[in-house]
Parts: sequence; C-alpha cells; structure tokens
Amino acid sequence: MHCPYCGYTDTKVIDSRLIAEGLQTRRRRECPECGERFTTFETAELLMPKIIKQRNNMREPFNEQKLREGLFRALEKRPVGEEEVEKLIEDIKKDIRATGEREVKSRLIGEIIMKRLRGLDEVAFIRFASVYRRFEDITEFSEEVEKLTKD
Ligand SMILES: [Zn+2]
Repeated sequence: MHCPYCGYTDTKVIDSRLIAEGLQTRRRRECPECGERFTTFETAELLMPKIIKQRNNMREPFNEQKLREGLFRALEKRPVGEEEVEKLIEDIKKDIRATGEREVKSRLIGEIIMKRLRGLDEVAFIRFASVYRRFEDITEFSEEVEKLTKD
C-alpha cells in the first residue's frame, strides 16, 4: 500500500502477527522513501446482507446481538450450552450469506433460524415458531419470546 506520509507507492512489511485469536493480522510497515513506519490491521470482511423488514419494507443491518439474545431466550432452561448457541449463530449466518443476496427478507431469515433451531432443540423451536408465525419479524422476536417464557 501507499505511504500515508509521503505518498510513495510502495511500503515494506517489517512485521506481521496474528491478533484477536487469529481473526486479525497486524502489520508494521515501513516506507523505503521517507522511512516512516505505520501499522495496518487486516480482518476478513464477511458482509451480511441487509434485512428487509416484512411489515414496512424498511432495510436494516443484520444484528447478531439481537439474534443471540433471541436464541438465548428461546433456549432458556433448555439443555443447550453457550458454545452450541455460538455454533448455531455461525451456522445461521453461514446460511444467510449462502443466499448470495445483498438484501434478504426477514421472513427468510426466520425460516433459516427455525430450520437450524429445530435441528438443535425442539422446545426452543416451538417457542420460536409460535412467536415468529405471529410476527414474521425477527426484530420483534426477542421481546415476545421473553414474554412467552415468563408466562
Ligand atoms: Zn513515505
């Protein structure tokens, strides 16, 4: 890459190491022209498609935290460990990315989640499905499952 100090068109990597448990590469670079050093960080860009909300066609970014909260609620008091939930989230994200679309309807997201959840825990699947079928919108799912599990 170009030197951010003098604009020279080439810089030399003088050190490269993995950080953030291997999810990031940190590189020290040096400009052969002006001798300045600087650091770059490299991460894989795994873009998630935007979600098209069913009700109003509004687009919103995929929210992993919201999904995680929803799944934890659906899986409340179920014999499913945190690691399994993280694996489930990765699988769901993989399925969503595999659509190859830049925008995905929330209905499809719901179907992907239900399919994956069914393979993991039937009770959680039923909790999810009963809420989801009423709202067809993952964004409202968390709050509704919370009510459901409290009843
Ligand atoms: Zn330079």
